[in-house]
Amino acid sequence: MKPIKVFKFGGASLRDADNIRNVAHILRTYGTESLVIAVSAMGKTTNALEEVVRAYFAKSDKTHDLLEKIKQNHYTLMNHLFDIKTNKEVYSSVNDTFVEIEWILEDAPHDAFDYVYDQIVSIGEVVSSKIVAGYLNHIGLKTTWLDARDMVLTDDTWREAIVQRKQTEQQIRAKMLPALEKGGFVLTQGFLGSTKDNNTTTLGREGTDYSAALYANAVDAQGMYIWKDVQGVLTGDPRIFKNLVKLDKISYSEAIEMTYYGATVVHPRTIAPLMQKNIPLHVRSFLDLNAAGTVIGGADSEGLTYPPILMTERNQIFLKVWNQDLTFLVESHIRDLFDIFAKYSIFVNLLQNSGLYFFLSITNKPEAMAAVLKALSDNFNVERVDGCDLITIRHYNDAKIKELQMGKQLIFEKRIPQTYQMVVSV
Ligand code: ADP
Ligand code: ASP
Ligand code: MG
Repeated sequence: MKPIKVFKFGGASLRDADNIRNVAHILRTYGTESLVIAVSAMGKTTNALEEVVRAYFAKSDKTHDLLEKIKQNHYTLMNHLFDIKTNKEVYSSVNDTFVEIEWILEDAPHDAFDYVYDQIVSIGEVVSSKIVAGYLNHIGLKTTWLDARDMVLTDDTWREAIVQRKQTEQQIRAKMLPALEKGGFVLTQGFLGSTKDNNTTTLGREGTDYSAALYANAVDAQGMYIWKDVQGVLTGDPRIFKNLVKLDKISYSEAIEMTYYGATVVHPRTIAPLMQKNIPLHVRSFLDLNAAGTVIGGADSEGLTYPPILMTERNQIFLKVWNQDLTFLVESHIRDLFDIFAKYSIFVNLLQNSGLYFFLSITNKPEAMAAVLKALSDNFNVERVDGCDLITIRHYNDAKIKELQMGKQLIFEKRIPQTYQMVVSV
């Protein structure tokens, strides 16, 4: 078998017919013989499907129209790429997928929200993969369509399903390797999995990167490529920060640190499966095919150095917590404190303590916050500041800290080697 590569195309690269033609161009130019393609839903389809689920549970009379609009967008796109006469099967298969959702919507909601979410939102990837595979075959790029739900086995944590790695690896190999042997591309969905009872699950927003990494790991790929609307990994989110530079090479461990502190350029779980098999991750531009992009791989000990890299976590609550009788904080208090956060699945993004105080920055989760704050104040004294941003600078220097503090109200700061964090109120 020839060396296998895995390409991931996200929503932005599949936004409309021209972008899908551009994907075909990329595949003609860079596609190797043994290529696995993982696709996301087109454009902002996932957000639109989330709206459908919310409307359905709110018993809104707009529910049907919201789905109809998504459906029409997909039909319009298909009409731009091919026509019903030559590609009847693709049209009817996409139609069948939408009909399944219409059936769900016909009855009043009786299952749990998160379960229904997965059944509805997952169709974004299903229809997108059917259309792209249909188009590639239509233009003569032979492509085998596979259903990710026959490969990725998960538990039933709806919306954030945990992948059973061993069995998933076996199933991926069993489906993908023979399909690749036959020649042509293999195309499947990202973001999707299935429980042992054959119910569809999703792996968390932006999960296609993670799916692609699981495929790459299972087939021992030579490299994984994600095609983006940016030049590569930048030293911060260009929608938030200015004066950024593109990073040429990042080690696996630096990439894990970046995603931990809030870099959204790749899904946080993507790196580990690649690192396990030493598979490089190439972040490339689908707009500028000649640009070299960023390579994630290797170790810092190979002499990699970095400029300051910026990350932001929005929607934070800053907390100062201490014992009601002003005694020292000991291990059992730490356990009590974290039991509360674990019980309500609250992300703690910053933690620092002194003898008397804990300082924390947590992500606001509106539906749980009243219960969390009650549990905290039953056990401790609590002060809080709502509506904060947590900004992290990896490889900081004083000039960068000063630049970022400018014009903001500093609530708290923390420095450890290589990592500076500040909580600011906005
Ligand atoms: P996709 O459709 O491929 O999933 P997204 O829109 O989710 O793509 O992600 C691409 C966007 O991520 C870019 O347009 C950019 O604005 C943003 N982004 C955030 N952080 C970074 C970063 N460190 N480097 C590059 N892009 C970033
Ligand atoms: N379509 C899903 C999302 O928008 C998964 C992905 O794009 O990676 O979150
Ligand atoms: Mg995305």
